[in-house]
Amino acid sequence: MSEPDRPPSLTDRLKAEARRLGFDLVGVAPAVVPPGYGRFVEWLEQGREAGMGYLRRQAEARGNPRHVLEGARSVVVVGMIYGRPDPSPLGPTQGRVARYARGGDYHEILWRRLETLLAWLQAEHPGVVGRAVCDTAPLLERDFARMAGLGWIGKNTCLIDRKAGSFTVLGSLLVDVELACDSPHQANHCGTCTRCLEACPTDAFDGPYRLDARKCISYWTIEHKGPIPDGPAEGLGDWAFGCDICQDVCPWNRKAPPGREPALEPRPEWANPDLIGWLSSEPLAFARSLKGTALSRSKRAGLLRNAALILGNRRVREAVPVLIDRLGDADPVVRGASAWALGRIGSEEASEALREARDDPDPAAREAIGRAIGVIDGPR
Ligand code: SF4
Ligand code: SF4
Repeated sequence: MSEPDRPPSLTDRLKAEARRLGFDLVGVAPAVVPPGYGRFVEWLEQGREAGMGYLRRQAEARGNPRHVLEGARSVVVVGMIYGRPDPSPLGPTQGRVARYARGGDYHEILWRRLETLLAWLQAEHPGVVGRAVCDTAPLLERDFARMAGLGWIGKNTCLIDRKAGSFTVLGSLLVDVELACDSPHQANHCGTCTRCLEACPTDAFDGPYRLDARKCISYWTIEHKGPIPDGPAEGLGDWAFGCDICQDVCPWNRKAPPGREPALEPRPEWANPDLIGWLSSEPLAFARSLKGTALSRSKRAGLLRNAALILGNRRVREAVPVLIDRLGDADPVVRGASAWALGRIGSEEASEALREARDDPDPAAREAIGRAIGVIDGPR
């Protein structure tokens, strides 16, 4: 175990180093049981985590940061602004990607930067043991961010800083040395505002601070593997990956400065991707192009599934040929979503292709094809 932090100026120098490394927000919290843990457990008990089984499996670990780092005494929490203005309006075959995923993968970027910060701390204070975390370990990061004074948790469940807003990504450095802690952010500046709750297109909020992942577009487009049921599929809107609506409407984001980290700079091909382009891409090349981006979490199958569903909802006739091609895709999730979309768009060509594909070897894809044929044929 390292010596406690005396004099406390080590904490100040650590924070200065964190800012030099490009972090916009930095604070320190004690490595204790997070106060929001009870709410998290309640949320799980209500089944609001949807298919994110890992949250349930790791629930106990989230109750104490010492499960993440044995002997942890302090949690240095950092934030980086990623918000940038929206690109031009969407074209008829384009989809929308959540802002945080339009540039390089923030997990990798923050994690590496935190490792550098740890190396700096170890040089300054030999013997310190630490662990960098950026969504890579069971830690209630938002809760620690609030404890470290970085902001409050808004009714949309995002961490909000009065100046930086909520378009910030968070990371943490757990260390076994006692650093000078910041005061927790006690105030809540949401006031009587309810914009986020009202703007959610899928009514995913059961009330303030109560997000039901089973209704959230971000959950379905990113976390859910496999076919998306009709209800959520019809509610995707333009979102090919994630959803920003409940943050876009937040008044605290209106004057927030844009992100300044070059590695998070949006890439034009990811900001408003052409969905027909996604569906037409050569599979290996497409999968390779996801490397180093947060989009890789959905993998090719998830992204193409989302693309097909959006085009189907919009009834884009121009997409029929590529959707017919995708009925022969190696991935049954892509085949099922393509069938779903063809069923909604219709046309003789679509109907014929669906009939040819109706003996699909995968039961879920076969069912989707059968239902799509039924939609085209209509009630008898
Ligand atoms: S991310 Fe979108 S779908 Fe999810 S709660 Fe926010 S507005 Fe609703
Ligand atoms: S939109 Fe309003 S209620 Fe929602 S998080 Fe922002 S300030 Fe809070």
